[in-house]
Amino acid sequence: MILKRAVVLAMISICCFQGEASGRTLSEWNDYVSQIVQQIRLVSTLEDRAVEDEITFIVLPTNSTNAFSTTSNGRRYVKIEVALLTTIEWLSTNEALTSPTRKVLCQNLYFDYLSNALVMNSERASTHVPLHEITSPFQFYSKNAAECPQISPAEANSDKDLHLFYDMEVQQMVTFVVAHEIGHQIYNDPRSEAVNWCEQQRRETRADAYALSILSKPGNGVALAFPVMFLFGELENLSGDDEGKSHPAAIKRLLKMIGMTRKQYAANPPLAEGLKGHEKEFYDGLNQMESGIRSELVEAQNNPAIKVCSD
Ligand SMILES: [Zn+2]
Repeated sequence: MILKRAVVLAMISICCFQGEASGRTLSEWNDYVSQIVQQIRLVSTLEDRAVEDEITFIVLPTNSTNAFSTTSNGRRYVKIEVALLTTIEWLSTNEALTSPTRKVLCQNLYFDYLSNALVMNSERASTHVPLHEITSPFQFYSKNAAECPQISPAEANSDKDLHLFYDMEVQQMVTFVVAHEIGHQIYNDPRSEAVNWCEQQRRETRADAYALSILSKPGNGVALAFPVMFLFGELENLSGDDEGKSHPAAIKRLLKMIGMTRKQYAANPPLAEGLKGHEKEFYDGLNQMESGIRSELVEAQNNPAIKVCSD
């Protein structure tokens, strides 16, 4: 998937492409998440900002790729597992290093490698087998030299354009995750159990809608957050079957992101200007993704064995 650079005004720089898995500390991630929250506050309504001010954001040193909202003794918490942030780090690195050079094969190879590694680790998490160490794109590329760009972390860090692309990717994916959790808090979801599966799915759809409303504000770009949702989709084998699951199928969530992206580009000429010369490629990519998802969803809807919640 090739995503075009968009005009992102409110940039938060994150220090450096990381060459190894353990590159960034927990406190650096906590600082970064606080900056993201500050950015979200700037585009929030007064009412939403009041809720945001009540939330304590915590990055957990845990190995699964989740984020969640809780309340305890009347206080609100949003907790993000560091492995989810590291996953976003690798996705962003992969996008930044392969998109400008159109190394699509390499991009997909790393994407598959990452999703397989995450599946392997989620299976291992319940056993006593040590977790599989996930290789950074830099390490992976050097082992796949025929398909992948050969670049060192130092070279990538000194290239302004690559750094900007990487910053935008990390920022928009982390914003999506954080804003989704803020959405749960705004609707007070953590204060009660969902009455059933469809109610739970509706809550998730509502939290996503909140996150997408933030990502469609000027200075942000929904399309830059696609890779993390696409990865969740890979973990579900791109299936439209979400019966009994807490979240709607990732491909359904991705479909909403695609719709929002079209609206965002239509409503924001300076953003669309950033596509200049690549409009066809960009929209062909969206169309292709959208029609693939729609045919999978039609299949799921026509399969009597799969239960579907209407939203
Ligand atoms: Zn959620």
